[in-house]
Amino acid sequence: MNELTNKLTSDVPLDLLRSRIRDVPDFPKPGIVFKDITPLLNDPKAFRAVIRTLAKETESLGIDRVVAIESRGFIFGSALAYELGTGLSIVRKPKKLPFRTTKIDYALEYGSDTLEMHVDSLDSRDRVLIVDDVLATGGTARATAQLVELMGAKVQALAFLLELSFLHGREKLKGYSVRSVLEY
Ligand code: AMP
Repeated sequence: MNELTNKLTSDVPLDLLRSRIRDVPDFPKPGIVFKDITPLLNDPKAFRAVIRTLAKETESLGIDRVVAIESRGFIFGSALAYELGTGLSIVRKPKKLPFRTTKIDYALEYGSDTLEMHVDSLDSRDRVLIVDDVLATGGTARATAQLVELMGAKVQALAFLLELSFLHGREKLKGYSVRSVLEY
């Protein structure tokens, strides 16, 4: 799926989902238009439609494990794991996880960052679905995919609530199956 225009299985139209995403200009810094998903979470019909749509799109992929990216990815990832009947593994920023971790460093526009998972959070036979709220430049999602592979598991697909297509995140995710409910 790219934009799921004709594929929404629930009775909630995409325009309604779109209306539940609020643009907040200049947050967290000047020039960034932040996509605030909290109005969508406040709306039970919209939230449920997003989770059911992503579940419908991914249920045939044989997913064993959802991997959710800190922090808004946890919200969608956990609901989706529940709906798919899979376990949930979490990817966190450095020094948040209490047990031993596997780490990956990745480049940002200025500098670099690190993501971590618990060493025992994936099985090498796991087919993984990576989940986050927003696909922007794709750097975070790509680093997560590499981290999953470093741990020996397989990335079956990546799923997002929304994609900022003008930032070309998909190009960083070439070779992976990428799904998003809404495109901007
Ligand atoms: P990126 O690595 O550039 O794809 O950025 C991905 C991460 O930053 C995701 O976890 C998003 O939640 C967050 N993010 C990036 N841009 C935005 C935006 N405009 N609005 C909301 N979240 C964003």
